[in-house]
Order: sequence, then structure tokens, then C-alpha cells
Amino acid sequence: MKSEDLSKFDKLVVKKLRELLITRHKVVVDESKQQVLEAASKFDSPDLNELVFALRRIEKGIYGQCVICRHDIPADVLEANLTARLCPSCQTAMHEKSDTSR
Ligand SMILES: [Zn+2]
Repeated sequence: MKSEDLSKFDKLVVKKLRELLITRHKVVVDESKQQVLEAASKFDSPDLNELVFALRRIEKGIYGQCVICRHDIPADVLEANLTARLCPSCQTAMHEKSDTSR
């Protein structure tokens, strides 16, 4: 992913984290990334953790990369689901797998 895209998603993830802090935890923080991360670290919530994890991946420059096949996940998929870790084809494969195991 290009660095300008990474910084775009960085902002989106911080925004989403802040929204969750406000709506679920009634914690109002500044829009600064540091403050949002600090507030999020006080809760052990899977939703918050997922987003914090996404921020770590952005920092490492591996955000938007499928964890299975390492292909880039399309930007529209990431915009719809900021914590997506699978590309659409791996997602489908996983889904089919879990369907047949039933
Ligand atoms: Zn994949």
C-alpha cells in the first residue's frame, strides 16, 4: 500500500476508534492519535483491540495485506471493514471451508 493510502487509513482507524470509545465506553478524547490509543489501551475490548492492531499494521506498512496470500486487499473492502485481514478470495475460501465443516 502506498504511504498516502496508509496515512489515509491511519486517520480512518483513529476516527473509528474514537467513535467506539465515545459510543461504547462513554470516553471522550481528542482526535489526536496518541490520546485515542492511550484511552483505548485502558479497555480490554475485542473491537478496540482489532483497531489498535490495525494501527500497528499501518505503522509497520503491512496494513491492507492479506494475512494468507499477501496480496493487497482492495481499498473499498478496507473502507467497509477497516480491520479486514483477508482479501476477498481468501475470505470466500475461509467461508466455504467453515460451511462444509458443518
Ligand atoms: Zn488472500
